[in-house]
Amino acid sequence: MIRLDDKLQYLKGVGEKRAIQFKRLGAETVADLLAIYPRAYEDWSRLTKIANAVPGENCCIKAFVVNPVKKGEIRKGLTIFKCDVHDGENLMTITIFNNRFAAAKLKEGDEYLFFGRVTNDSFRREMINPQIERPGTGERIRPIYPQTSGLSTYFIERCVKRALEELEGFPADILDEDVRRANGLIGTEEAVRNIHFPSDHEAAAKARKRLCFDELYVLQTGMMLIKHRNRSLSSCVIKDDRTEEFIRGLPFRLTNAQLRAVKEGIADLAGSRPMSRLLQGDVGSGKTVVAAALCHTAAKNGFQCAVMAPTEILAQQHFKTFRSLLKGTGIHVGLITGSTPAAEKTRIKAELASGECDVCIGTHALIQNDVVFKDLGLVITDEQHRFGVKQRSALIEKGSKPHTLVMSATPIPRTLALMIYGDLDVSVLDELPAGRKRIKTYAIDSTVKARAYGYVKKHLNEGRQAYVVCPLVEEGEIPGLTAAEAFAEELSAKVFRGYTVGLLHGKMKAKEKEAVMAAFVAGNVQILVATTVIEVGIDVPNAVIMVIENAERFGLSQLHQLRGRIGRGEHQSTCILISDDKSQTAQHRLRTMCSTSDGFRIAEEDLKLRGPGDFFGKRQHGLPEMKIADLTTDIELLRSAQEAARALIEDDPKLKKEQNSKIKKAVIKLFEAVGPGGMN
Ligand code: ADP
Ligand code: MG
Repeated sequence: MIRLDDKLQYLKGVGEKRAIQFKRLGAETVADLLAIYPRAYEDWSRLTKIANAVPGENCCIKAFVVNPVKKGEIRKGLTIFKCDVHDGENLMTITIFNNRFAAAKLKEGDEYLFFGRVTNDSFRREMINPQIERPGTGERIRPIYPQTSGLSTYFIERCVKRALEELEGFPADILDEDVRRANGLIGTEEAVRNIHFPSDHEAAAKARKRLCFDELYVLQTGMMLIKHRNRSLSSCVIKDDRTEEFIRGLPFRLTNAQLRAVKEGIADLAGSRPMSRLLQGDVGSGKTVVAAALCHTAAKNGFQCAVMAPTEILAQQHFKTFRSLLKGTGIHVGLITGSTPAAEKTRIKAELASGECDVCIGTHALIQNDVVFKDLGLVITDEQHRFGVKQRSALIEKGSKPHTLVMSATPIPRTLALMIYGDLDVSVLDELPAGRKRIKTYAIDSTVKARAYGYVKKHLNEGRQAYVVCPLVEEGEIPGLTAAEAFAEELSAKVFRGYTVGLLHGKMKAKEKEAVMAAFVAGNVQILVATTVIEVGIDVPNAVIMVIENAERFGLSQLHQLRGRIGRGEHQSTCILISDDKSQTAQHRLRTMCSTSDGFRIAEEDLKLRGPGDFFGKRQHGLPEMKIADLTTDIELLRSAQEAARALIEDDPKLKKEQNSKIKKAVIKLFEAVGPGGMN
């Protein structure tokens, strides 16, 4: 007999050496072993006739060996074994390379199960290097495990089998009977047995569903514990909703999505706990005005607001936008960035300390120690994924439990948003302001570049403006790629002679950047050659063309962000992606860009291509790793798990009740891996 928390080396068949190999797979105990889930199954339970085998697909064929195995040596080190097998109707050739153990198994006149891919290049079907088993015990669904050096899937299978046979006592179910029933889930023991050795595919699917649910349920419960922990009573309760007068002053009508987001935000401001909300909206969906609406009401209630942007240019732009949106309201808007002259900085700091400045826009400069607020009630961060958690909390600590709103223009796939921001409430702007035209996107290679430039000129002649994006700043960073500076010079000397060309890149001084941007906004620069500095937030409605050079160098979400700089006004906009990269990934990305402008779809696609770990860079969000749940596809399950977790936490906010000790233990274990700051 063996117990769940026994070390693996005490399981029969696993010695010390194997135990070390298992450890590399993350398994130390019997329980860990049972949690190595199959990554796929081989279906040996359904037998296929030779005549019906689909070429290229795995199948299982039961057949007699009809002649002795012939051995041949093609060259030194390459031995080939061949024989013919018959399934009562047809003949098939079995070919085995180099594996004399497999070949030695086969006896003329005996019957076997052959599992593998059938090819039929020649007149006779052939199976190369099949798995071979005896009939009688072999016809079943076999688990295929993730493999590591030295541990074959068959060895893992044997160990799991033995563990399940000898196991003394199964862990109790972490789910209440009613949660289980409401979600149509099978019991834990059945799930664990069937994930490894399902009798059929349905059994495997049910087992998977149950185990995924558990994993997501534990994760969501953990997220909610964190969320509740952070929710102390608010010290900035807002009594007077001034949204209406703000809206009256706007030059446009808010979209329904914007109205909804403002309403949700205002309800938070008026609530007893500080707002902790994510405002998520595709590029151009109009997040800024939602932020301004909340600042307006907060300021009218006597609280100060801070709006932090990741770049100087963006802070500048927000400053202008906020000033114009809040004109005539009596609300005083300030700006503080790294390049604010010392004297002015001193003045603004004094105004913040005295409370004279109501809304302060800024960059990281806002979080410096000597910036002190009199009564900071609302903290907003734009493009929040560019800030670390530390920077965000540094700003929050300048107030006394202020409300927080984070804005993200990176449309995060819903699944991921639910995971990452499990500790935040989410408002989504899923609607663009009326009258926006869909951006036309084309992918071309450099042979037809001249035509693309001709197209750009045509629009410049009509008074429009254009962006040309290239990936690098200095010459020679990667040979063969155009550097922004040299490139801009070349463009203005040749192709765009007679037009004004501006240059914007990350290594320029803030003042220079500002000057170029200002000239572009004013229309004095017709073509802006830029690196990804323009990626975030820049808003110039008259710019309607974007040419992206070496488009293969950008990720999908990044391309989408860049493209979001155009299509912001009444004119038809066009995005031209130039790339000579014919690789599959590059082509897939470009095709996706041409076929959709839906940021959420692009984000889903990006997530599929890169996986959740890479989506924002690993570990950035401190999410625990999932063993079986797939964040890109298990959306429905995630939702129901979240609901169940919410009900659980509402009933027992700190998981103090005895019956919840098991789930609590599971939560702590899952978040342990994330490290400090996880559950503590
Ligand atoms: P993002 O969500 O990408 O930050 P912005 O806040 O920069 O978007 O808004 C994009 C543009 O749309 C701005 O020029 C803004 O003035 C304009 N805008 C925002 N809301 C509306 C609306 N309801 N109707 C018309 N234009 C709007
Ligand atoms: Mg923005």
